[in-house]
Amino acid sequence: MKNHGKLFLISAASGTGKSSLINTVLSRLEKDSLSVELSISHTTRLPRKDEHESKDYFFINRDSFTVKIKNNFFLEYAKVHDHYYGTSRSFVEEKLASGINLILEIDVQGVDQIKQLSLPSQSIFLLPPSLESLEDRLSLRGSNSADSIKLRLQNAFSELPKCSTYDHILINDDFYSCSQELIDIIKGEHKSPYNSKIQEFLDKLLS
Ligand code: 5GP
Repeated sequence: MKNHGKLFLISAASGTGKSSLINTVLSRLEKDSLSVELSISHTTRLPRKDEHESKDYFFINRDSFTVKIKNNFFLEYAKVHDHYYGTSRSFVEEKLASGINLILEIDVQGVDQIKQLSLPSQSIFLLPPSLESLEDRLSLRGSNSADSIKLRLQNAFSELPKCSTYDHILINDDFYSCSQELIDIIKGEHKSPYNSKIQEFLDKLLS
């Protein structure tokens, strides 16, 4: 495959605030000449009340998802919180070939799959300021049932240790500096790899 653009793989637990962060970063990067877009995934999850078809996700049913798996439609896909999510192969290939960098907001399983492919990519794990903040944000969202919140928190807790396999770890405790760090990563100017501050923070988060 002809490749010019690069992939930025961003994982974070639900409620970490990654969508707001990514939207801010995208609008700030619009002013620069760097071309970056957000990939739109397919999912079998039902839309939330503020979500729109083909903008937030391509919402499809389980049968259509299964057919797409068989047709090798997905570059990667995974079952996350009881629903399927996947990234379209052709969408990614076309964007990269035309020199567009793409942000993929995908879970740890998806990142593992993309890392097996020979595509230029950087992985970024976004940590929440605390586990309480995750629960608060999920409850405030109002579109998750108590069971769904519980499942999302359990998954968040079990996936946090996997952050050490990512190229970059960011803590979303200060929105402005976190978005600046993400911009620096995308521009290739980020200079703080995994360090003791992050290890300390992670130990506290998991204790
Ligand atoms: P949500 O239901 O809150 O939109 O997303 C739930 C989880 O699915 C998040 O961790 C998100 O990163 C992940 N996700 C969204 N799209 C994809 C995708 O295309 N592939 C994979 N592997 N995970 C995805």
